[in-house]
Amino acid sequence: MLMHEVMVAQNLLAAISEESAKHNARPKAAKISFGKLYALNDEALCFAFEAFAKETLCEGVKLEIEHKPIQGQCKNCNQSFDVEFSSPRCPKCGSEDFQLLPDAPLMLEEIEFQSE
Ligand SMILES: [Zn+2]
Repeated sequence: MLMHEVMVAQNLLAAISEESAKHNARPKAAKISFGKLYALNDEALCFAFEAFAKETLCEGVKLEIEHKPIQGQCKNCNQSFDVEFSSPRCPKCGSEDFQLLPDAPLMLEEIEFQSE
């Protein structure tokens, strides 16, 4: 198991548990997102999460992972946009001179609670 995924899984588990306690509810699913360049393995993360969630409030919680597109900013017109690597250019002015913006951080987007 990879160290990074283990740490992220533990943090997620803590965050979800805390939110669930606040809502006095049991979590059912959680949605997280991070940038495409983020060095995190989905499978390893889910595996680690599942392992740590055992016998906790979060046991059986399904993780949904969304990968955010990479953002670029045009050096010509300053437009920021989602970079398509098949045709990397500014959608506004067509310039291919742009810089990549920092990758999206890991976010806990939403938690779905069990209704009862
Ligand atoms: Zn442009």
